[in-house]
Formats: sequence, structure tokens, C-alpha cells
Amino acid sequence: MSRSAHPAGPRHGDVLPEGHYTPPPSDLNSLDPRVWAQTVERTAEGALRVGGVDVRRLAEEFGTPAYVMDENDFRARCRAWREAFGPDADVFYAGKAFLSRAVVRWLHEEGLNLDVCSGGELATALAAGMPPERIALHGNNKSMEEITRAVEAGVGRIVVDSFQEIARVAHVARRLGRRQPVQIRVTVGVEAHTHEFIATAHEDQKFGLALAGGQAAEAVRRVLGLESLELTGIHSHIGSQIFDMAGFEVSARRVVGLLTEVRDEHGVELPEIDLGGGLGIAYTSEDDPREPHEIAKALGDIVTRECEAAGLAVPRLSVEPGRAIVGPTAFTLYEVGTVKELEGLRTYVSVDGGMSDNIRTALYDAEYSVTLASRASEAEPMLSRVVGKHCESGDIVVRDAFLPADLAPGDLLAVPATGAYCRSMASNYNHALRPPVIAVRDGEARTIVRRETEEDLLRLDVG
Ligand SMILES: *Cc1c(COP(=O)(O)O)cnc(C)c1O
Repeated sequence: MSRSAHPAGPRHGDVLPEGHYTPPPSDLNSLDPRVWAQTVERTAEGALRVGGVDVRRLAEEFGTPAYVMDENDFRARCRAWREAFGPDADVFYAGKAFLSRAVVRWLHEEGLNLDVCSGGELATALAAGMPPERIALHGNNKSMEEITRAVEAGVGRIVVDSFQEIARVAHVARRLGRRQPVQIRVTVGVEAHTHEFIATAHEDQKFGLALAGGQAAEAVRRVLGLESLELTGIHSHIGSQIFDMAGFEVSARRVVGLLTEVRDEHGVELPEIDLGGGLGIAYTSEDDPREPHEIAKALGDIVTRECEAAGLAVPRLSVEPGRAIVGPTAFTLYEVGTVKELEGLRTYVSVDGGMSDNIRTALYDAEYSVTLASRASEAEPMLSRVVGKHCESGDIVVRDAFLPADLAPGDLLAVPATGAYCRSMASNYNHALRPPVIAVRDGEARTIVRRETEEDLLRLDVG
């Protein structure tokens, strides 16, 4: 096919260069509701609007790049999870996906609990008024200082991850005259990522105490033998961006197996099971995640069935979605700086951010979608790669996407589903200033995390 027929690049149906393409939608201006926050829409004028606020106004007022978060969508997802799991279960939001004071307040108001995995996350949770009994502390190498602060604050649970840590938490609790509730994190021999799960080669990881070989059972023995610890349950987290419930099924079965062993050996029925997080979201139109009520029903059924078979009372269930709550609630707004067309290959579209605000593409080969946000366009689809401004050729935001061929410097692009693991993993590479998080709701926009300044950078540089 002659390139000159459409100089902007390959069209739908062409032989495309190597890569993975979500086919272009028949209308590049359309928005797939699975990848966008609920209030995102394209106005009659053509620009995107979120929470009733035009993205051009956001760019003008707050600058780009910026993470734009739909507060109502965040709250709706919290409620959907809470309601799906009901009063006999707890939903712990995984703070590592994205944490700020505003988010902690929303979680608190919507009745969710909170997982933290560092002193910094704990400090943020407490500073924003999360009741300590609704906080769980995770991590495979918590420092004595982190453990001490958590026990002092009275966190609802510490999820212990190693034999050393059992001794450390017990020591701190004893010294402070507390009896600290703990769960034991076990590795169940299942590793699940996206569409697949693997039931072998599982214990080969840094987290948790293995069920196989008896480490987990030994951990139970030790915790039960320590006065200053109260063993409330068993915790298992099998991976991330999971769509297939089969991994959870195996995990639940094996955790219930351990509860049965514990009852038989110690005459104790542990009252809690935590099956972790990792529920997948749609980054592109090819992903088809399940709704919270389907997940709740599937997990509830598995646990109930396994407990009935073992003659155990059904324990209180908890889950820890991070990405599934915050991921779809935000998009990143960028401005296009340069457009470089490579004939017969693709067009490189450089934006004013990159791997410093979204490392997931470089780190995990993550796929994203993108749309022209400041206007609609009827131009032909152009195979594009959206790249950042960093000194690194792996600095890719969206590896393969179709954008309209009339894209030009100054246009705004929006990359959806960047609410999880983007701001929280953001870096200052190239002394980039980390973008702000803007919350929008009912026609109002406000900064919840402000943009970094050069002063912020220089404040740390005390040489
Ligand atoms: C990361 C993590 C989660 C959340 O994972 P998502 O993929 O964001 O749902 C939950 N629990 C634990 C222990 C984790 O490490």
C-alpha cells in the first residue's frame, strides 16, 4: 500500500509494525466507559469534561502534566466494594496504590479500612484521621520504628511476614504493655497475574511464610505461644491485575486448609481470613474486569464452601483492593510538545511528562490507552507512540495507540486509568517536578497534592 495515500501513518487494516495494538475504535472521539472515570464525557464542543469541569480549564488553571481524579467516581467505587462485601466482611483499601490525606478522608467517610506498608503511609493515614483500629500494617521488612509507631497508635492489625518479625512485634507489644492483633501472611503456592495463575514455583518470593513445608504452621505455633500477640487470622495476597478467579479459589482452599490444621492442632478457630487484593481493571478496551458484586459473591462462595466442607465456622473475610478502587478514577492530562512521523513505522508524540509520572509502561510493559482531550477530531487514525521527555528511549507512556492524524503541539492528551501506581511510584528522574493531583467534583476542581517546585527539589539538596 502506498504510504502517500495516508501520510500520517498506517490505517486500520494495514500491515502494522511489530507491537500490540488495541484496534482503533471506529470513532477516535469515543470513550470506552470501562477505562474512564464515570463522569468523563466529551462535550458538544469536543473537549473532555470530568466532574463537570472542562480539561482545557484544568490545564490552564493547574498546568500539565496533572493527574485528574474524579472524586465522585472514587467514592462510588468505595461504596460498590463495601456494599458488595456487606457487613460480614471488611474492605481494606491498599494505600500503596495512591495515598493522600483527601483520599484517607474519603475512605473513612465511605466506611473502608486502610492498608499501609510503611511509616510514611501510616503517618499519612493517622494525619488524616483514619481511626487506628481500621488500619492494617503490611511489609516484609518493617523497621522497629515502624512497628513501634503502629503498636503505639493501636493499629487494628499487623500482618506479620517472617519469624524475625513475629519476635519483633511481640517484643514491642510487650514493652508497650499491649496485646497486638496480628495476621500471618502465608504464601499459598499460587501466583496470579492478569489472565493467568501459576500453581507452582510459588514459594520462591520474598513475601510471607510458605504453607508448603510447614513454615506457616510453625509461625502459627510461635504466635499462639506469645502473650503479647493475638492471632486473628491468615492473610494471603497472590498477585496483581488478576482477572481469573481460579487463583483465589486455590488460595482460599489452602488458607482454609491451614485454619483446619490450626483447629486440629491447637483447638483454636481463627476468626479472620484476608484474601488480599490484586483485582484487575481495564487499561484498554481489551480488558474485561469483573464487578465488585461478582467478585464478592465468588470469594464468599468459595470460602463458605471450603469452611463447610471442613466443619469450620465461616471466618470474617477481608479483601484489599487498591488498583480496582483508585485506578480508573484518574487520568493523566499531558500537553503535546512534538510530533515526529516515521513513515511506514509510527508517529512519536512527545508529551510534557513521561516515566517520572508513569513508570508502569517501562517497568511492567503495561498497556494504556490515550485520547485527544482538548478537542474532537475527524482525522484518520495514526499509529502513535506516546513518549515522555526523559533522557531514556524506554520512556514510553503508551506504547501503541491510535491518535488522530491532525494531532499537533499544544493539543492535550488524556491517558486513562492512571489513578493507581502512577503518582505513588512517581520519581524526580531528570529532576522532573512530580505532577499535582487535582480532584474534581460537581463542577469544582481543587488540588489535593500540589505540584512539586524547584524549591522542593533544592530543599533536600543541602550540600
Ligand atoms: C499491593 C497489595 C494489594 C493491592 O493490590 P492491587 O493490585 O492494587 O489491588 C493488596 N494487598 C497487599 C498485601 C498488597 O501488597
